[in-house]
Amino acid sequence: MTRPELPVIIAGAGWAGLAAAVELSRYDIPVTVLESAKQIGGRARRVPFKPADTGVKASTEATHSTAHTLSVDNGQHLLIGAFESTLSLMRTIGVREQQAFKRINLSLTIMCGPNKTVDLQTPNLPAPLHFVWGLLTANGLSLRERFKALWFYHRLAKQDFTLAEDESCASLFDRHHQSDNVIKTLWKPLCLGSLNTPIDQASAQVFLRILRESLTHTRHDSNLLLPQQDLSAVVPDPAMDFIERRGGSVKLGQRVQQLHINHEEIVGLTLDDRSLKARHVILATPCQVTAKLCQSNPDTAHLGDSLTRLRANPICTVYLQYPEDFSLKQDMLGIVDTVSQWVFDRKIYGQAGLMAVVISGPGKHMTLSNAQLIQTVTSELAQHFPHWPQPLHTMVVRERRATFHCAVNINKIRPANTTPVQGLWIAGDYTNTGLPATLEGAVRSGVRAARRVMESMNE
Ligand SMILES: Cc1cc2nc3c(=O)[nH]c(=O)nc-3n(C[C@H](O)[C@H](O)[C@H](O)COP(=O)(O)OP(=O)(O)OC[C@H]3O[C@@H](n4cnc5c(N)ncnc54)[C@H](O)[C@@H]3O)c2cc1C
Repeated sequence: MTRPELPVIIAGAGWAGLAAAVELSRYDIPVTVLESAKQIGGRARRVPFKPADTGVKASTEATHSTAHTLSVDNGQHLLIGAFESTLSLMRTIGVREQQAFKRINLSLTIMCGPNKTVDLQTPNLPAPLHFVWGLLTANGLSLRERFKALWFYHRLAKQDFTLAEDESCASLFDRHHQSDNVIKTLWKPLCLGSLNTPIDQASAQVFLRILRESLTHTRHDSNLLLPQQDLSAVVPDPAMDFIERRGGSVKLGQRVQQLHINHEEIVGLTLDDRSLKARHVILATPCQVTAKLCQSNPDTAHLGDSLTRLRANPICTVYLQYPEDFSLKQDMLGIVDTVSQWVFDRKIYGQAGLMAVVISGPGKHMTLSNAQLIQTVTSELAQHFPHWPQPLHTMVVRERRATFHCAVNINKIRPANTTPVQGLWIAGDYTNTGLPATLEGAVRSGVRAARRVMESMNE
């Protein structure tokens, strides 16, 4: 491969940009990563749990009620065993999985009322028998509901988890005669949790893609990977070290403002205070930023316009610090009929007593003040855990543009990594990986963009 005279420029040090930079660095291609923020990691990064300022920058708003010295994440994340590109990236940069994650068999405990729980545990059986067994023996569902859910799974497996025409998840569940109870306690939490989009709008095709990737190959693909370190320590920090050790650089506070395109070829870009020459650029910026950068140039305006069709959905994480001896029996559990959707016990991070309550998707909670939201979530938890005291410290992190709105037919409008301009590529969770907005989607997209760059160097 011809070694380029100029480094490949990667705009954005989220997981997609860092994955692209690591992939290029592996092959000794020089890279310069330009990140507009003061911190790398993008939408999956460490944030302080302390009241030093008004909160986290960019699209995040955070408030803190009391002094504290912990680090948390800008949002509680969960990965699955099928996220192979992310695991492979971690191996490349020298992060041991056992250090980063607690890996557990797929298990779901959903609280549906003070004394009612749906509980699905998968045993150590080969896939898909483990899931079949889990469904058949799920507590809290009637025998009829379990068989119907199993039949639904069987029908989906027969069609290889694909649909001739996309439809909403709600319509898919309805067409397969899933009861209201099974939808509420099983399919809806899974769908909203993975697509961050209400089930009456969410793409069934994308939901089925997650089921196919996680349930059909090996049991390990459906394992839940619970981070036990903050997210910056899992990939961004070690990725930056790897890039720098290989001679690349990661520069913070460097906002790409404009692309220089000449005769349909990238020739450079403008930062706040200077211009840079470039022959190869990967835009790993968020979709809305990439749209703006593309719209301001005639050669990429059409691509930019099409990106504006992708809408964004929020995710809210409410951190509640209880006394250290309060904990959940499980690492995580779901709650239904409440604003709170999932509760994660952060004791596996060494943060005893700290609960992260996750609220995915749009909803009335986004109009509540932080104080009202904390009050709502705290009293919902008190319904299920009446012996818990008031939390000692609290913090709300609202990511207003956490993911793209994963609507029906979304894959038809998601872009590939290529652009009409020679030397210019795009990467990010919103590109057409078939997956919802996930860390794995971001990493796969970044790696693909890097490979396209290397292929173009060989041409
Ligand atoms: C609260 C929350 C919870 C989530 N939960 C999960 C989960 O449980 N599991 C999961 O797999 N995924 C989850 N996700 C989704 C996952 O975090 C994202 O899909 C992923 O981080 C996106 O990475 P990215 O690199 O594509 O984009 P980003 O992380 O947005 O990276 C883009 C980078 O570009 C930078 N940038 C912006 N403008 C410029 C500019 N002009 N010049 C230079 N740099 C610029 C940004 O600062 C940012 O660092 C969650 C997301 C959030 C917010």
